[in-house]
Amino acid sequence: MDVSLPKAEAILFEGERIIAVGNSSDLKNIYAINNKDIFDAKGAVIVPGFIDAHNHYTLMGVQKYELDLGGIFNREVILDRIHQEHLTLDPNLPLIGINYEVDHIPKDYHIYKFDLQKAAPGRTIQISDRSSHMSVTTEQTLQIAEINLDPKECLQCIVPCTLKMTGFTGEICGLANSTLHHFIQKGLRDPITLKTAWKYASLTAAKHGVTSIHAIVTEEEMNGLIYYKDILPIDLKIYTETKNVKAVKAAGLKQIGGCGAVMVDGDSGPFTAAFLEPYTERPETSGLLYYSDEELEDFVWEVHSAGLQLALHCVGDAASQQVLNAIEAVQNRSGRKLRHRIEHFEFGTKEQMEQAKRLGVCLSIQPNFNHFWNHTTYIEQLGESRAMRADPIQSIVEKGIPMGFGSDCAVTPCDPLLTISSAVNHSLPHERISPAHALYFHTMGSAYIGMEEKDKGSITPGKFADMVLLEADPTEVNPAEIKDIPVKMTIAKGHVIYSE
Ligand SMILES: [Zn+2]
Repeated sequence: MDVSLPKAEAILFEGERIIAVGNSSDLKNIYAINNKDIFDAKGAVIVPGFIDAHNHYTLMGVQKYELDLGGIFNREVILDRIHQEHLTLDPNLPLIGINYEVDHIPKDYHIYKFDLQKAAPGRTIQISDRSSHMSVTTEQTLQIAEINLDPKECLQCIVPCTLKMTGFTGEICGLANSTLHHFIQKGLRDPITLKTAWKYASLTAAKHGVTSIHAIVTEEEMNGLIYYKDILPIDLKIYTETKNVKAVKAAGLKQIGGCGAVMVDGDSGPFTAAFLEPYTERPETSGLLYYSDEELEDFVWEVHSAGLQLALHCVGDAASQQVLNAIEAVQNRSGRKLRHRIEHFEFGTKEQMEQAKRLGVCLSIQPNFNHFWNHTTYIEQLGESRAMRADPIQSIVEKGIPMGFGSDCAVTPCDPLLTISSAVNHSLPHERISPAHALYFHTMGSAYIGMEEKDKGSITPGKFADMVLLEADPTEVNPAEIKDIPVKMTIAKGHVIYSE
C-alpha cells in the first residue's frame, strides 16, 4: 500500500515502529541482524493491519452475551437454538437473539410470541433481525420493560403497524422495538460486563486481521473506554455519538459523531432513510430528516469551530445532501476545511460525489451492506433506478473521493476479508472494484479518513508495525475465495496479537 515500494520481501521493525522495508539480504547486511531476530513468514502474504473505520464497538463486544442466529433459515433450528441457550444461560440474564433472518423466512414460518414462550419459558427475551429494526418478544418481557403497546404510541412507525392489523403476535417495530432494545442492552452496561465486552471485541477483531478500529460509542461509554483502551491489543480511535461538543473536547478527543444520537436520517427498512424523492412503495413519504437545515448547520458549525472532525450517518440522498450543504456553508464561513465524514452514503448521487470531492468530505463506506442486502433488496421499495444506485463504490473510486471501509459491526461482522470480498463481488457489476483497490480502502483509505495516515495504513518505515499475515494474496485468488483466505497472524505495534 506504499506507492514508493508496493511490494517487498522483508520488513524490519523494532519496538512499535517499522524501521526498513526491502529485500532480505540487504536488510540483514545493513542492519547487522541477529539470526534469532529473524522470523520467516513461510510464504505468507503480509499486508498492512486492517482498519475498521465504522464499528459500534460496545455492540460488537456485547455479542459475547448474545445468541447469533445469522444464517439460520429454518424455524425449528432457530427455536432449538433458543431453547438450548435458555437452558445454559444464567436465569437472571435476558436472552438476546441477533441476526434473526426474518427477511428471508416466509411469514408463515416466522417465530412468534407463543414459540418463544415454549422455547424459553419465563425468560426476558428479545430476538432481533440483522438491522435491529424489528424484533420478536413476549408480553411478559414487555411488562418487565414497562412498555405499553398502544399502537398510537408507535410514533416512529411510518409503515402501517402490524399491531393495528393483527394484534400483538410478538413482532414489534418502531418505538416499541427500540425502547425494548435499550431496556435489554442497559442490563449489559455495568463496568465489569463492559470491560469484558470491550476486550472480547478487540480479540475478535484481531482474529480477522484488524489492528485499528474507529470505535463509535455513546457519550455514557466514552470516558470508560478512553480509560480502558490503552490496555487493549488493538488501537481505538473513539467517535462519540453525542451533540455534546464540550464533553468530547474535555475528554481530549479530536473527533465526534457516528449514528444513534447524531444521525441525520434513519434507514430504508422502516422507511426512515431520507430521500429527495418519495418512496416508490409508499409515495406519501420520503423518509425522515432528524435535523432542520438550521439545526444541522449550527451543530456542524459548533463542531467545526471546536476543531473537531465530524462523522454523520446518512443513508438516503436527502440526508447526504443536507450534510454536504451544511459543511459547505460552514467551511465557507470559517475559511478552512476539516476532514469531515459522511457515514454510509448508501444512495449518494453523482452530483453529491462532486460536491464531496470539492469540499474534501470523506466517505465512510460499508461494502458488506451489499453482501447482506444486495441492490435487488431495494427495488420494490425505492424503484429500479434508485436501487441501481445502492452502495456506489466504484463510482466513488472514479471520482477520487477519500474513502475508508468499515463494517458497521454489529450490523455486519468485523471481518475485513468479507468486506473486501463484498466490494470486489458487488451485486452491480459496474460498482465492483479491484481487489487491490479494496485492500487499499481498508488500510490506507481508512487511515486517511481517520486522520491517521502518518502512522498507519501502509508498510512504510516510520509507521506502526501493524500487519496481517494471510495464507493467500487477495489480489491473486479467485474473487469468490477472498472472504475465506485464512488469517495466519496479526501483529499490532510490533506485538503478535493473534496467531492461528
Ligand atoms: Zn453505524
